[in-house]
Amino acid sequence: MSLVIQGGRVVDPSQKVDGFLDLRVEEGTVVEVGEGLSVPDGAEVYDAGGKVVAPGLIDIHVHLREPGHEYKETVASGTRAAAKGGFTAVACMANTSPVNDCRSVTEHILSEAERHGRARVYPIGAVSLGMEGKSLSNIGDMVAAGAVAISDDGLPVSNAELMRRALLYTQHYDIPVIQHAEDLDLSGGGVMHEGEWSTRLGLPGIPGSAEDVMVARDLLLAADTQGRYHVAHLSTGRSLDLVREAKARGLGVTCEVTPHHLLLTDEEVAKSGFSTDCKMKPPLRSETDRQRLLEGLVDGTIDAIASDHAPHHPDEKDESFSCAPFGIVGLETTLSLCLDRLVRPGILTLSRLIDLLSWGPARALGLPGGTLAVGSLADITLIDLDATLTIDRDTFVSRSRNTPFAGWELQGRAVATFLAGELVS
Ligand SMILES: [Zn+2]
Repeated sequence: MSLVIQGGRVVDPSQKVDGFLDLRVEEGTVVEVGEGLSVPDGAEVYDAGGKVVAPGLIDIHVHLREPGHEYKETVASGTRAAAKGGFTAVACMANTSPVNDCRSVTEHILSEAERHGRARVYPIGAVSLGMEGKSLSNIGDMVAAGAVAISDDGLPVSNAELMRRALLYTQHYDIPVIQHAEDLDLSGGGVMHEGEWSTRLGLPGIPGSAEDVMVARDLLLAADTQGRYHVAHLSTGRSLDLVREAKARGLGVTCEVTPHHLLLTDEEVAKSGFSTDCKMKPPLRSETDRQRLLEGLVDGTIDAIASDHAPHHPDEKDESFSCAPFGIVGLETTLSLCLDRLVRPGILTLSRLIDLLSWGPARALGLPGGTLAVGSLADITLIDLDATLTIDRDTFVSRSRNTPFAGWELQGRAVATFLAGELVS
């Protein structure tokens, strides 16, 4: 199968390319990039005039909920949501039921992806057996089956000795340990960021230090072990400073941030009238934290934007603010939110945003893709910068609806998603 994508503006940060070029794909691989490419006999032609042609976007923090919580999401529905949002690959967290802590669960997820997936699925194995935080999971087995990293996300690795051993052991496989950085004693029963708004609203708070002390501890362990360490959903200015300093010292440290921590603050809990769609972990932070995260995007400290797509059934979120579960969906909103609220106002260049959504995440986890270099996977996202949309949760193809962005009017969105050269959305 042969495909030529013609006349688009190719933006590929991995090669520092930004220009009007054609792209030829054979058998799922990019084989030629250049001006005015000839079209082989029988090749399909896709007119990308007026569109941006980007490497397929990669979301390295997604909860697909399968096995065990298929009423929230499945591999099939989650990857459909990914493709619709412009993502050609997702890395999925291990807090399923059963937990992905051994080869059979990793294999199950991959076989579901093989049969029903509209995007590549890269399973992340658990750090600890059953995510109980006691003993290491079967890391070698899971890596052999296809796991690309380990994380107990949903929960932190609280035990410092376990984290130290994880950072040592994963070096045999050259994979990162991804930490949901939260000191559970400090976060306690908190339900939102601890600050002026939690005081005014009378809700128990989660201080920024709950994240900072865990990141600080882990960076010491990463320095001692020379392990690969990745901070999931980094949310505070001080954690960002710690990562920036560790990178300057040459540690193998990476981090991601979410769109909601870049665009919303703790005030949103009040403004939304205690909407449980503003309840997530880490919580929406202060405006100061938010501004610091934006600086980290620009200066390169932050490696990736990841959605932390965390589907929950409406009945679960239809609870009081204190009782509802933490988390929101993001696969179908991330790209448009970032285009409209980060690129359009000039905070980020288009190239930097695409970097944060493709090459950056690919490098953080060591995944294929994230580039349109000749010989790479023909995973390609076409973006229309002028197309508008209003976020309408009733049109989501995800099984869940929990978003704080409903009704937002945005400009810029994915209009076509190619997986291995085939149009999947
Ligand atoms: Zn988490």
